[in-house]
Amino acid sequence: MKMLLRPFLAALALLVAALPALAQNPPKRAIIQIQGDLWRFQNNFHYSVFLVTADGVIATDPINADAARWLKAKIKAQFKQPVRYVILSHDHADHSSGAEVFAEDGAVVVAHNRAKRIIVGEKRPTAVPDVTFDSRMNISLGGQQVRLRYVGKNHSDNMIVMHFPKQRALFAVDFIPVKTVAFRDFPDAYIPEWIQSLRKVERMDFDILVPGHGRVGDKNDVTAFREYMDDLYQQVLQQARLGKSLETTKSVIDLTKYANWGQFERWAPLNIEGMYQRIQLNRRGNQ
Ligand SMILES: [Zn+2]
Repeated sequence: MKMLLRPFLAALALLVAALPALAQNPPKRAIIQIQGDLWRFQNNFHYSVFLVTADGVIATDPINADAARWLKAKIKAQFKQPVRYVILSHDHADHSSGAEVFAEDGAVVVAHNRAKRIIVGEKRPTAVPDVTFDSRMNISLGGQQVRLRYVGKNHSDNMIVMHFPKQRALFAVDFIPVKTVAFRDFPDAYIPEWIQSLRKVERMDFDILVPGHGRVGDKNDVTAFREYMDDLYQQVLQQARLGKSLETTKSVIDLTKYANWGQFERWAPLNIEGMYQRIQLNRRGNQ
């Protein structure tokens, strides 16, 4: 018995040591009214929106299957309406997963046509979109409307924005953070096109900016973030054209104007690195 007890105790000790890591906090989930019939859905650090109409609900990024099941039950209990549409902002799994939860009740899944190709090709854990489009699509339901617009490549090549004209709100995910620097080192990004897509959003007619992460903002935040991206791009491009190394570039780039923005300490250095790598890749075409 003694011989058996020792490995058992060792295994038990390991299990006890691992317990704090295993005991995960329940996700923070909530729905918050944005404006009239437009609501925001929170799942930890991810957010989407949904519009309640007289003929059903238009939902957006399901985030993941568990989150989607929670939201479906919440909408049913609070609004007594079925979800008729689920609109995906882009293909990335942390926003697009879980659409099957609404699709199994008959909701129509909508995305950009390149998003559908990636969702199918990469086997993203979500429903295959039923309806896709290239540049624009309007969905009307119960006397309300959402206008879907492709504004060009930015944080992905299939990002759409969702404009709710009656609520004067725009849902834009991952490419217009509010008073926050860009996510890490620009994974899956198209930099010059990103700046152009921000200019397109600046020309749209809305007041409230609802991002996929972080706090709600307004149209001025689009301009502020476009200026940040342009500033970073121009500064890094200048150093790259002078043949400066990444290390030198990092030491001379001045982003102090944005020092009070969210994630500045953690992500601004990564923003410079990612921008430098992307610019170097683009410049190779000139050689
Ligand atoms: Zn993304």
